Amino acid sequence: MMSNMLLDLERKSQQLFDEWKYLLLQEKCRLCKRMIHPLIEKMDFDSYRPPARYFIGHKEVVSDVICQFCLPDLSSFQAVLRKHQTVRCAEGMDELAEFLVGSAAVFMEPIQSLIYSLKYSEDVLLAKDLACLMYEAWQLLREEITEFDDIDSLCLVPVPLHKKRLHERGFNQAEAIARHFSQLTSIKLERRVISRIKNTKSQQTLSKSQRASNVAGAFKAVTANVFADKTVILIDDVCTSGATLVNCAQASFAGGAQSVHALTVAFVP
Ligand SMILES: [Zn+2]
Repeated sequence: MMSNMLLDLERKSQQLFDEWKYLLLQEKCRLCKRMIHPLIEKMDFDSYRPPARYFIGHKEVVSDVICQFCLPDLSSFQAVLRKHQTVRCAEGMDELAEFLVGSAAVFMEPIQSLIYSLKYSEDVLLAKDLACLMYEAWQLLREEITEFDDIDSLCLVPVPLHKKRLHERGFNQAEAIARHFSQLTSIKLERRVISRIKNTKSQQTLSKSQRASNVAGAFKAVTANVFADKTVILIDDVCTSGATLVNCAQASFAGGAQSVHALTVAFVP
């Protein structure tokens, strides 16, 4: 009885907090630019829209920056799984290891703008929405890989930026997405376990072969057993040629990972 009352009180105070939060923050939907408020049905303003709600397993996650009307434009994409190969060094011998990359959407509008806003305009509130969108790709990956049943053996590893780039940009967008994804799935987030030892050129203007040589040997696990017996799930915003993820996967194997897979918000077909 008492616990029910407490739960009810908690729910009511959360609701009150949310109402005020949205009024105080005055966040606009990043796509249609209308103001967002969760109790819009009770309000009579044409300029307001209800926030998007994502259903993640049994959890409902409410967006701060995307409205319910714009959500279908983002979630209409089909998640995909693609296979990549990397080199794994096992007992002194190099062997090829396959890994899967799950992506939520094709890298095109409106996803593209949201990723750029997070990355270049530091619109960090978008990281939660992008993590929610990535959940479908995670479901696809989970169906394929039975080792995912043991959540304690998994860890999320955001693709790191070189410290110079991190200093210039101020934050790592992959880490921002991974942090929210960790909250959604309860998979442990591991930061700073792989370092980017080469300050590579931006991959954007390079050809496929230039991309591969640009990032070759760019990553290193901090120790040889940092991932002992772990399954690493690399997280990045976009998978273009896959060269960055291939090299990161190689570094994860060198750090003792049992297996490696990756999730990205978008992919370039
Ligand atoms: Zn909108």
